Amino acid sequence: MPLSVASILAETAARRPNHTALVLGDLRLPYAAVWDQAKRYAAVFRAQGIGPGDRVSILIPNTPHFVFAYYGAAALGAVVVPVHALLRAEEIEYVLKDSGSKLFVCAGPLLGEGAKGAELAGVPLFTVLGTDEIDAPRLDDLAQQTDPIAAYEQAEPDDVAVILYTSGTTGKPKGAMLTHLNIVMNVDTSVISSFDTTPDDVVLGCLPLFHSFGQTVSLNVTFRAGGTLVLMPRFDGPGALALMLKEKVTNFIAVPTMYIALLDALRNAEGGEKPPLRLAISGGASLPLAVLEQFEQVFQIPVYEGYGLTETSPVATFNQKGWPTKPGTVGRPIWGVDAEIARPEIEERIEFLPTGELGEIVIRGHNIMKGYLNRPEATAEAIVDRWFRTGDLGTKDEDGYITIVDRKKDMVLRGGFNVYPREVEEVLMRHPDVAQVAVIAVPHPTHGEEVCAVIVPNPGASPDKEQIIGWAKTHLAGHKYPRIIEFVDAFPLGPSGKVLKRELKTRFH
Ligand code: ATP
Repeated sequence: MPLSVASILAETAARRPNHTALVLGDLRLPYAAVWDQAKRYAAVFRAQGIGPGDRVSILIPNTPHFVFAYYGAAALGAVVVPVHALLRAEEIEYVLKDSGSKLFVCAGPLLGEGAKGAELAGVPLFTVLGTDEIDAPRLDDLAQQTDPIAAYEQAEPDDVAVILYTSGTTGKPKGAMLTHLNIVMNVDTSVISSFDTTPDDVVLGCLPLFHSFGQTVSLNVTFRAGGTLVLMPRFDGPGALALMLKEKVTNFIAVPTMYIALLDALRNAEGGEKPPLRLAISGGASLPLAVLEQFEQVFQIPVYEGYGLTETSPVATFNQKGWPTKPGTVGRPIWGVDAEIARPEIEERIEFLPTGELGEIVIRGHNIMKGYLNRPEATAEAIVDRWFRTGDLGTKDEDGYITIVDRKKDMVLRGGFNVYPREVEEVLMRHPDVAQVAVIAVPHPTHGEEVCAVIVPNPGASPDKEQIIGWAKTHLAGHKYPRIIEFVDAFPLGPSGKVLKRELKTRFH
């Protein structure tokens, strides 16, 4: 069996053809049907001239069509470019052009921006779940009129399988090139060393599949293990709870905001019935300890927190099964991967810091991307001596466990002192009126920057700014406690459910 992203589905379809692979609403698809559809999509792509190395962009929500197009392109040895669901036409144009896409598949509900983007970029558009308003060939219909391809293309481990665009907080988005080896190794180390995923597992597919976390950890890990993925196109707490109960979901793989929303839904639900969870995994942003403790108390299972980036495929470290779990840390590097702490101010070479010292987390191993597409300089800055500079600040203890302190770019520099928002957030989360909090830097005329806490209050609470400031002052040093408090009803969330701090900074600067 060749090492390829397509083999993740092909192998399980051969081994367990009748086992349910995907669930969406009342639709249940066994592995054989999913692989058959993927091979049909591949046949349509091939008829359009797509072959090994060609790029196919896809803008599809969490539906089986995403899965068909993803493995269909991979089966030809083509490179899949999943497009962020929130992009506007010009941003889609940029991704299509920068990736050199030969074909663009867009789902009906996203055609408003997608069709414009395709036109601006001059890339042929195919639709799935199409609407009659757009005159474009329907990939899902064409696939039913075509014979599936007979066999999938062998890929070299070092061939690029997927290009994922980072959100581009500084400058234009960069396309991280992940190879077949990157993804397959990340999937296998997750299945084997971290999660023990089995065919009996029913996984909630609430993370967007176009993002590396959902794609590797929800989709590919579940398919590699032969479990069932319950697709959820749009996350909300009560909806997730209802779906988890209906489908008897066993694995919750989510970002912290989803943990908070699920606990909230459970508190408000009548009867308090709980889904039969056996595995809870958090990543993508730091999970406040108060939330972790509540979740563990309610479900009586440990929450395993991990850490990674798009550029690291994404899993880099994990509180792995079989090792002692250390809550508040993101665990140890996964098998075959090293994580160290380096002096952050030296850009051109890596200089390691001793155990326990705070610095920039650097990562080396099979999970490091091949580079940024068309960006040799950005690649050379990011990967030094095979070490990937994450831009995250953290520490490593004597057992090799990593603690994330914060992102370099989120740190608040107040009057010459560094303040790490995460530390302030952890404290404020324990205030009885606070449901969620995001601490950001705002400009200040004399201190340079000031610490600002943006708070979503608990339902029914009527918090007082001065009271919260006074309370924080008793728990935090003089330079750390927030002098500015802002209340909001809800946070702006990115497509993967992470709080968009950069939007809060623009709003409250
Ligand atoms: P951007 O392109 O701006 O980086 P993004 O945040 O969606 O967008 P990702 O690659 O998905 O990009 O996110 C990686 C970042 O998420 C890491 O650099 C780190 O800051 C943060 N992160 C991931 N897991 C954790 C965790 N367990 N604890 C704290 N932070 C985490």
